[in-house]
Amino acid sequence: VHQMESKTDNRVPKIFPSVKFLNYKNRRRILVTGGAGFVGSHLVDRLMLEGHEVIVVDNFFTGRKRNVEHWVGHENFELVHHDIVRPVYLEVDEIYHLASPASPPHYMHNPVKTLKTNTIGTINMLGLAKRVGAKVLIASTSEIYGDPMEHPQSETYWGHVNPIGPRACYDEGKRVAETLSYAYMRQENIKVRVARIFNTFGPRMHMNDGRVVSNFILQALQNDSITIYGNGEQTRSFQYVSDLVDGLVTLMASNYTQPINIGNPVEHTIEEFAMIIKDLIGGTSKIIRLAAVEDDPQRRKPDISRAKKYLNWEPKVSLTEGLKKTIAYFVKELQRTKHLQKD
Ligand code: NAD
Ligand code: UDP
Ligand code: UDP
Repeated sequence: VHQMESKTDNRVPKIFPSVKFLNYKNRRRILVTGGAGFVGSHLVDRLMLEGHEVIVVDNFFTGRKRNVEHWVGHENFELVHHDIVRPVYLEVDEIYHLASPASPPHYMHNPVKTLKTNTIGTINMLGLAKRVGAKVLIASTSEIYGDPMEHPQSETYWGHVNPIGPRACYDEGKRVAETLSYAYMRQENIKVRVARIFNTFGPRMHMNDGRVVSNFILQALQNDSITIYGNGEQTRSFQYVSDLVDGLVTLMASNYTQPINIGNPVEHTIEEFAMIIKDLIGGTSKIIRLAAVEDDPQRRKPDISRAKKYLNWEPKVSLTEGLKKTIAYFVKELQRTKHLQKD
């Protein structure tokens, strides 16, 4: 176990999780933009435990220091408060570019900023990769398929996106991020990897990000009504965060440069999903229906044959197993926030 004296109280040494010792040849300097967010912080854990040097750049719009605080003070770790819409000069071998609001209420809160982050922010990361010769992995999304006319969605599908609707800032922002990646690849020989991430859940999701997983769990835990938007027949396919992290790390290490779907193909209607969560949690919540959301994609399920073939990757964690861990996290979060309110 690696030990270091705490800066704030030198009588209590800070105990870090034990990391692998990597020699200089195998150790990489890795930038994770958005590393204080939900997915980013799990990726940071994985890279730190593997013994790499990790730099997180985050503006804390939706991320939190708490997600990575267990690494603060470790000699391999650096946390930089910075907005990637402004240029940043660092020396790194790899860039995982995850910075972007991700839940619909968050990205719709400031659509212009969402667009700037995904366009100008992505140009800055590609410019950085060009200057230092780093490999860059872009966190794209299943939203680039829009409200899909093809089912399940494979990477060859070009998508069906409303370019001026309420989701466009995110969907089109991510589409431009992909376009930029391949323009830099063709023109500047940048090494790019593009992960099209499907709905992901797990501990450290925001309590109030308005996504279906956090909403339904919190509602069931508090015996509030479980709110289905529309008729509940729309579908999603949910992936547990550790499977996503495996997929991202495997993709970065591979030679595969085309976009690749990373998601769990087990598909449920939102109504089924409400019942699964209610059954797991128990309680007295009623399931109610609210107005449908504008431009809500009606069906979503990844075709993951590409990931299986080229990365030998497929998800391992079942929905129920993942939900149990996520519910346990939310129970603790609720206790913590209640405790904070009392103080
Ligand atoms: P998140 O909101 O928890 O994390 C995003 C992080 O980016 C936050 O820490 C936020 O503070 C930071 N950020 C946002 N704008 C920034 C800026 N301008 N400069 C610096 N930092 C900035 O979301 P997440 O669920 O962890 O998503 C991570 C990435 O994965 C995003 O790019 C998202 O689009 C993509 N993705 C996520 C999902 C999912 O279901 N979670 C699905 C598809 C794609
Ligand atoms: N950039 C950055 N960090 C770097 C190198 C570049 O943030 O280490 C930014 C830079 O501000 C520029 C963008 O990345 O606006 C794109 O870089 P590129 O070299 O493609 O463009 P140029 O600098 O030639 O306009
Ligand atoms: N949804 C719902 N009730 C909620 C939150 C979301 O019925 O309280 C629905 C939403 O309309 C969508 C699906 O659940 O059809 C997934 O929504 P989420 O915002 O989690 O992700 P995304 O739409 O980006 O896939």
